[in-house]
Amino acid sequence: MVRSRFLARLECLREQFDAAGQDGLLISDPANVRYLTGFSGSFCRLVIGPVGVFLVTDRRYAESAPEEPPVYDLVVASGARYIEAEREAILLSGSRRLGFEPGAISWWELRALEACLSRRSRLLAAGGQVEELRRIKDDLEIAAIRSAVAATEMALTHVLAVAEPGVAERELAAILAADLRRHSDGPPAFEPLVSSGPRTAILHARPSARRMEAGDLLLVDAGATASGLAADMCRTIVVGDPQDGLQARAFAAVREALDAAIAAARPGDPASQVEDAARRVLESHGYPLRHDVGHGVGLDVHESPRLAQDSTEVLAPGMVLAIEPGLYVAGWGGVRLEELVLVTAQGACRLTHLPVSLNVAAG
Ligand code: ZN
Ligand code: ZN
Repeated sequence: MVRSRFLARLECLREQFDAAGQDGLLISDPANVRYLTGFSGSFCRLVIGPVGVFLVTDRRYAESAPEEPPVYDLVVASGARYIEAEREAILLSGSRRLGFEPGAISWWELRALEACLSRRSRLLAAGGQVEELRRIKDDLEIAAIRSAVAATEMALTHVLAVAEPGVAERELAAILAADLRRHSDGPPAFEPLVSSGPRTAILHARPSARRMEAGDLLLVDAGATASGLAADMCRTIVVGDPQDGLQARAFAAVREALDAAIAAARPGDPASQVEDAARRVLESHGYPLRHDVGHGVGLDVHESPRLAQDSTEVLAPGMVLAIEPGLYVAGWGGVRLEELVLVTAQGACRLTHLPVSLNVAAG
């Protein structure tokens, strides 16, 4: 069952080769290798050619027997001599016009391959082919993302409940990271972001030693993984009772922008329209939108499509999107809310269940 899924993906990929003038593809991006084969080791190169599919890895992974016969033949690299193993895999694959991923291969590795292949095989830049396939999720991927969301929500529920005056951002981040691991089968999708008080205005704030005070805003952005697929969610709450009316007004503006952006994520429409919807709402409340309003989520926590004003992509059923409007006022603080949605034929449907509320007790 799983094997047939990988074979089908490889077939879809091969269908792109002719039009691009290739007869093969060298894949260096580990998430792309995992998508096509299920292999999740940290060192891998995949060569797809007319004769076969070959995975280059090192001895650490040579022993681990997969549950089903793999969709590739293994070429094991010894020590640092993996260029030789890659060359062998390329020759075995029979490819003479081999695409490579410009964004995922080092200049050094490309030059070394060109030198050792000489005139046997030509290397051609061919980025984005696997990413194009990965944009649309199948049922198994959507089920895994739902599991990652469930784990994230358990972790967020716990952390928001224990967020009290006197607790440091770092302490909360440590609890969050442990919970994300405990509730799922893989590492967190990214290092959780926890910021409080005026630090919530910092877009990508690393957790600090700052201890929360009553009435502080608290922003928590985190995601678990399940079977390699990520979740990505953000909540902003107030610790204790709200300090001023501005907190409630800012929160209401971001929640309205979130709802408008989700409603705008319709199949067949441009991805940029999701950002337009959020921007219009925030601007009507007097706030600018300072970052992209969202992104695709899958094996990578940020992947295609980008939900931004300059995005040229079109939404389609099967895309999983993180939508995350926010507003940030230096010296005062910020509010960001992030939900995961699945684009369906009928429109976007939320994969998340955690209440969107400024006050946890009122949740
Ligand atoms: Zn996030
Ligand atoms: Zn995100």
